[in-house]
Amino acid sequence: MILTDIHTHTSFSPDGRNDIEEMISQAKAQNIAYYGIAEHFDYDYLVNGLTFGGEPATYTDAEKYFLTGRAVQEREKGNLRLLLGCEFGYTANRAAAPLYKKIIETYRPDFIVNSVHTNKISDYYYPDAYSNKLKAEAYKEYFDLVLRSTKADYPYDIIAHLGYCSRYAPYKDTKILHAEFKTEIDDILKEIVFRDKILEVNTAARGSGSEFLPDIDILARYYDFGGRNVSFASDAHDVKRIAEKRDTVVAALKEIGFTGVTVPVKGEYLLIPFDEN
Ligand SMILES: [Zn+2]
Ligand SMILES: [Zn+2]
Repeated sequence: MILTDIHTHTSFSPDGRNDIEEMISQAKAQNIAYYGIAEHFDYDYLVNGLTFGGEPATYTDAEKYFLTGRAVQEREKGNLRLLLGCEFGYTANRAAAPLYKKIIETYRPDFIVNSVHTNKISDYYYPDAYSNKLKAEAYKEYFDLVLRSTKADYPYDIIAHLGYCSRYAPYKDTKILHAEFKTEIDDILKEIVFRDKILEVNTAARGSGSEFLPDIDILARYYDFGGRNVSFASDAHDVKRIAEKRDTVVAALKEIGFTGVTVPVKGEYLLIPFDEN
């Protein structure tokens, strides 16, 4: 089986806990064939003046990341396919798109992960993002942002961790059921299929009530709409979580009918079959 984990973070990201060398050696120890780093580019924070829970936000040093990363990529060529990507924080504020386009033009990342982490008030990591809203209202607002992110004004490959708002939500029952948000979720899935993008399966599910995001009911719906591009992401921020719950995800995807995972490399989508040796 060819192993992939294409959305992880190193200490170039403000919240990454191990450096690139530590992450790479762990990926190699786990026999990962395609290993992707997708450092945070949180210009949604920048243009909206958001903070890290009251502390000033800090940002990935793009120059340092790509300079170091490209050298490591070259050195490791015979060992694993290292992909250097970016995780762009989507915002409806149009001031962010030119900044993201500039990153693409300057550094030509191998792939782009498009993520909704924030609303106008805060990251969904912090309670402020939910600001006394009921679950249905807060989640619908989040899904609306994800739908808008599928139509982003910059190129991207992957829609990440669909259901991020449930990871840290302050509700007794945080879980997202497709049946509860049918219209909102279907609109997003159809857009991903129509645009030929990749739907990520992310195992950093935290307090979402699911083992991975999005859960099986949503992945099955995507499959029914004709979606065949799914990527595997541990979203590891340290060496311990690389490839976490990969077998669980592969089993679930196989049961739905998927035959492999998709790896984006400079705009090309490689289908890596589950059962290929
Ligand atoms: Zn993310
Ligand atoms: Zn991430």
